[in-house]
Amino acid sequence: MKKLFALITAVPLLFCACGNGVMKTEDIFAMDTFMTLKAYGKNADEALSASSAEIKRLEDLLSVTKENSDISNINSGGGKPVPVSSDTLNVINTALEIGEKTDGALDITIYPLLTEWGFTTGEYKIPDEKKLKELLKRTDYGQVVTTKDSVKLPDGFRLDLGAVAKGYAGDRAAEIIREAGVTSAIISLGGSVQAIGLKPDGSPWKVGIADPFSPNEEIAAVSVSDKAVVTSGNYNRYFEGEDGKRYCHIISPYSGYPVDNGTVSVTVIGSSGAECDALSTALFVMGYEKAAEYYRENRSFDMVLITSDGKIHITEGLKNSVITAEDSGAEVEVIE
Ligand code: AMP
Ligand code: MG
Repeated sequence: MKKLFALITAVPLLFCACGNGVMKTEDIFAMDTFMTLKAYGKNADEALSASSAEIKRLEDLLSVTKENSDISNINSGGGKPVPVSSDTLNVINTALEIGEKTDGALDITIYPLLTEWGFTTGEYKIPDEKKLKELLKRTDYGQVVTTKDSVKLPDGFRLDLGAVAKGYAGDRAAEIIREAGVTSAIISLGGSVQAIGLKPDGSPWKVGIADPFSPNEEIAAVSVSDKAVVTSGNYNRYFEGEDGKRYCHIISPYSGYPVDNGTVSVTVIGSSGAECDALSTALFVMGYEKAAEYYRENRSFDMVLITSDGKIHITEGLKNSVITAEDSGAEVEVIE
């Protein structure tokens, strides 16, 4: 029995009369993901419809596949500056900044490689080395040029904000919910969760972390209030190659290969969803040792990193807020 927490995914009721009012919930499909938004009390309905409209608006701007999105326009810009919205610039600038701070582990120009491996079409294959080397020449976030209202990409390069868009959308959706006067809400945009205020009973939200070895169950939960909790995992999207190996959707911009470094899941907890999302992907690429080093040098976030040996590594800020599933038998190490 692993479900010992009051996990947000485990609340089956649509409406529940709780101390501080009625819970409203909205399920949407956007950004290739099933999303669930829950809010309590006065204005909950309006808050949820306004925030889901915002998520869809952002999807239309940030999608790499939708025609006429800002990203599609940049990708077909032929090396010329393309005017874009301030949201698009915000996301790109956050991603470039984290790219810089993580020595390029986060690289939003990874798309040609992602396509070659088949992650954009579902026609998976193991590409040959020569092709990967060639595509690595078209992978360099340092080539993205932003001004206050435009983005320029060299011809042949492609942008993909899959690693950051949901985190940013969570920030905006949470902002709208707060502006509507709602003080208790939880929204889950796939691996990107935002906990707004406290639960109606005054206790912190408990956000479940999927068990990477059995993704329909939770291996741990973290207690949070007014925080983003964003997870990157090797179980989210992957294929099994003819060689029997698992190839996941997060690609190393150094080798061009899907990451296979012994880290299977990284959850980042912090105040900005966009930053947490960018970091979860980057730290996943960096792997346990480098991720721990990055944490020690920055300490502006907390993380739960799970390695393939089943160990759960948590940063010291989480010592009192992570609960592990009782039967997981997982060893927990604190990164200090
Ligand atoms: P996430 O689930 O937030 O870790 O994002 C994973 C998605 O980001 C993938 O599905 C790709 O679209 C994209 N991606 C994969 N590898 C990288 C990388 N090294 N840097 C930036 N984006 C990446
Ligand atoms: Mg991410």
